Amino acid sequence: MPFMEFLTDRAEERYDEFIAAAPNVMIGLDFDGTLAPIVADPEKATIHPQAPGVLLELAKSFQVISVITGRPVDQVLRLGGLEAIGQQITAIGGELRVFGHYGAQQWSSTDKEIRSSAPPAGLAGFIAELPRLLAEARTPDAWVEDKGLAVAVHTRRCADPEESYARLLPVLANAASAHGLDVEPGRRVVEIRLAEMDKGLVVHALAEQDGVHGFCFIGDDLGDLAAFEAVRALREQGLATLLVTSESGEESALMALADVAVPGPSGVVEFLAKLSVEALRADF
Ligand SMILES: [Mg+2]
Repeated sequence: MPFMEFLTDRAEERYDEFIAAAPNVMIGLDFDGTLAPIVADPEKATIHPQAPGVLLELAKSFQVISVITGRPVDQVLRLGGLEAIGQQITAIGGELRVFGHYGAQQWSSTDKEIRSSAPPAGLAGFIAELPRLLAEARTPDAWVEDKGLAVAVHTRRCADPEESYARLLPVLANAASAHGLDVEPGRRVVEIRLAEMDKGLVVHALAEQDGVHGFCFIGDDLGDLAAFEAVRALREQGLATLLVTSESGEESALMALADVAVPGPSGVVEFLAKLSVEALRADF
């Protein structure tokens, strides 16, 4: 696969329109599978080595860059080295924002404070019930990650990851709805979290700021679908938009909506580097 592929006839025009709308545009980036390669132990994920330099270059042409993830903010700041990148971006007049827990936590490189919603009411009860649910789904080897405002159940390290995932999802979905929580299915992970919070709401909130003429979002997984749909809604309102899918071969749901496909995080950084070079050139 080449490092980027336009998926529709209209996509190349959308790319040009997005560049022409710089710097008054937003760039939203998922973290895992997009800026960082997927690894078996999510605690060991690290940002692609070229990503920090590329994000700084991007900040010269695009006002606000946002990382929008299901992870807690402090974790993604650490795994991504995003505090240091944010400091450099702020120093040249830009802003790096990080949205964790699908928007329930926020951080900006300009004020450096993590703002957090309260944990969802049903979460403690759900977590107490988890051992019984894992037994019921016959997935005692699933790995539970307590994320504070959410809980994630991973099957990537199970003896049979796909089958375990298929058995777990309906069991967890039932229990979550009984506790007033939402499930977020992902690549060999099911997340249980606050209802009524998703990446699409973050996209809409960002786009509501004054003077935003365009939005580009890059993601790789089902949790990014809401963001893709939100960007499509902005397109209907006349914004210059671009949807990019970071392809893994594990999840293809975003492909039908995307303008551009890139092969995983290495393709993402190459794509972002191209975007920043061409936006700078368009400035002259
Ligand atoms: Mg992802």
